[in-house]
Amino acid sequence: MNYQENLVRIRRELHKIPEMGWGEFKTTAKIIETLDPLGWTLHTGIQQVGLDQVMGRDPVFVEKSIQRARDSGVSEETLDRMQGYTGCIAEFDTGRAGPVTALRFDIDCVGVEETDKEEHLPNKEKFRSCHSGEMHSCGHDGHTSIGLNLAHWIIENKDKLTGRIKLIFQPAEEGVRGGAAQSASGLLDDVQYLLGAHLAMMCPTGEVCVYPTGLLSTTKLDIHLKGAPAHPTMSPHLGRNALACACTTVSELLGMARHGKGLGCINVGLMKAGECRNVIPVHATIQMEVRGESDEINNFMVDQACRIVKGTALAYDVQYEIEKVGEGGELRNDDELASLVAEVAKSVPSCHKVVERKKIGCSEDFTLLASRVRARGGKTEFFVVGANRTAAHHQREFDFDEKGMETAFDIFKGCLLKLNGTE
Ligand SMILES: [Zn+2]
Repeated sequence: MNYQENLVRIRRELHKIPEMGWGEFKTTAKIIETLDPLGWTLHTGIQQVGLDQVMGRDPVFVEKSIQRARDSGVSEETLDRMQGYTGCIAEFDTGRAGPVTALRFDIDCVGVEETDKEEHLPNKEKFRSCHSGEMHSCGHDGHTSIGLNLAHWIIENKDKLTGRIKLIFQPAEEGVRGGAAQSASGLLDDVQYLLGAHLAMMCPTGEVCVYPTGLLSTTKLDIHLKGAPAHPTMSPHLGRNALACACTTVSELLGMARHGKGLGCINVGLMKAGECRNVIPVHATIQMEVRGESDEINNFMVDQACRIVKGTALAYDVQYEIEKVGEGGELRNDDELASLVAEVAKSVPSCHKVVERKKIGCSEDFTLLASRVRARGGKTEFFVVGANRTAAHHQREFDFDEKGMETAFDIFKGCLLKLNGTE
């Protein structure tokens, strides 16, 4: 197999069918259909998620996504295997004693409309998104392609490998929703080494960073407020104003104290309230997130947010519900594994520079898979592979350098040979 060509080919196929978190039915079908004939054991549907840890999954959106997959020709049999839950954990046993190593690839896209600009490579080469309002503008199409190509390579090279290898195709990374669910599946509990990577614009192509810093711990919350309706002049005393409560809540939230130990951020991204002009407003919804440089700081922000919601709800006598819809922790890489990635990267032809630490920013729920593995004595490592080309992540003009896939592919390959090699 010519992996360089196949990395690009599969990436472009996936780029055409971007699907947002928990709606990746076409993508998961592609994963299942690729891995099944290769002899991988597949955990799909509710086998690969802890149902009580599924966050930010809208059943209406899921139904629509299933229908779209069906309309595009995904078979009922394949859809049945997914049981309404996207993602897949694949396992291969070499039959020889050795460690259990897992590699993680996220598969979802972002809710932006791809640019119409002619010079945009997916337009020029005719692989732009077929789904309006959805686009692979974070490079997860590249990640999935790397995972699928490694699946081929592992089978092709199984005689050189020992132990068991797991490929984790994670749904709903955007909004940090799917990591908690897959980590609660229990399927990572025997993993000794867990590796993950992100193709990134923040590093030039050819550069690899083995310990990205500035990845923030984060919690996403939806707040639902429920008051009581009443006529605004005849019986205002009977009303309970959810809109007024939401306004006070938002100003209190934005002004909350910060932690002295480091960076803590809050954003309220959406507030919706009220029904019509002449009724005391009954319903209000707030979508917000907090982030922190460490889990400690993030938890401090979450605690305050919850207290503020509770306090203002009490003040306005409205009912409240706080729903956690996403979560990512702080990144802690294992030094030994980070050195291994650095050593392997230096031997990869397309890698020109290895940097130890570099500030990347953003948040990742790989951290939740990692903390599950670490809690059971395993080692974890998340690295960044440079692939800069055009606009930054999550923008309409985003397009990564496809050469970065080869670098990441070769590093994963090299690490497998070191960790699970017969020699
Ligand atoms: Zn991403």
